[in-house]
Amino acid sequence: MSKIALVTGGTRGIGAGISIALKQAGYKVAANYNSDSKTAEQFHAETGIPVFSWDVSNYESCEKGVAKVCEKMGGTIDVLVNNAGITRDSMLHKMDVSAWNKVICTNLNSVFNMTRLVISAMREKNFGRIINISSVNGLKGQVGQTNYSAAKAGIIGFTKALALESANKGITVNAIAPGYIATDMTNAIRDDIKEKITATIPMKRFGNVEEISNAVLFLADKKASFVTGVTLSVNGGQYL
Ligand code: NDP
Repeated sequence: MSKIALVTGGTRGIGAGISIALKQAGYKVAANYNSDSKTAEQFHAETGIPVFSWDVSNYESCEKGVAKVCEKMGGTIDVLVNNAGITRDSMLHKMDVSAWNKVICTNLNSVFNMTRLVISAMREKNFGRIINISSVNGLKGQVGQTNYSAAKAGIIGFTKALALESANKGITVNAIAPGYIATDMTNAIRDDIKEKITATIPMKRFGNVEEISNAVLFLADKKASFVTGVTLSVNGGQYL
């Protein structure tokens, strides 16, 4: 029977690429999003992948959302991809409390919220795959991103700890740390800054979403059953 995969932020950018790749690999895929229902409906029309709106930073919303997904998909979640994320960049000395809290809640608390809601069923089934999307900037830091880098580094600690807790339960927990990938998130970066960033990437280009979804496919597969607690960098060779 097909395994059920849930991708947060799965209707746009990297998440959309992951949802499509998992579907093509034979998973029953559900894609979550927050508020961009126009894009989500278009994604659904093009791919046939069911889409579900809720805010991953809110535990009660996640509870309702996961219940709805399980009901619609006819089972519990086998593969969870915690992909949803945002940026609110600012130098720390200018950062307001809301930019800090919003990024920590959306990028890090969400990983607790979502994983907490699927882990018990995975433990009962003795199978599960948790794949957390971190970032190169969670590994090396970035100017203007104390909030984002803290959240993405936090994901890596979470991944390692839960991997230890889950190792005897057939559940692997891994992170992917993408480098710069061409999506709406990075389209927002000014062109001159993009050029400077590109110059620091040994491959001299941004990555594409397929290069991240291929890594997700590997970690989700039964063949990756001995890989847990790792952070896989997919970044064109950026020095850390
Ligand atoms: P996009 O901005 O293109 O898409 C973000 C997705 O996350 C959207 O589907 C959005 O939903 C969803 N989302 C945002 N907030 C919430 C929320 N509160 N609840 C539910 N869904 C939410 O981002 P990318 O595809 O570029 O990034 C995906 C992930 O990869 C992020 O975690 C990001 O930090 C990480 N990453 C990205 C890199 C890059 O270069 N692009 C590099 C390294 C890491 P909606 O459509 O409704 O807005």
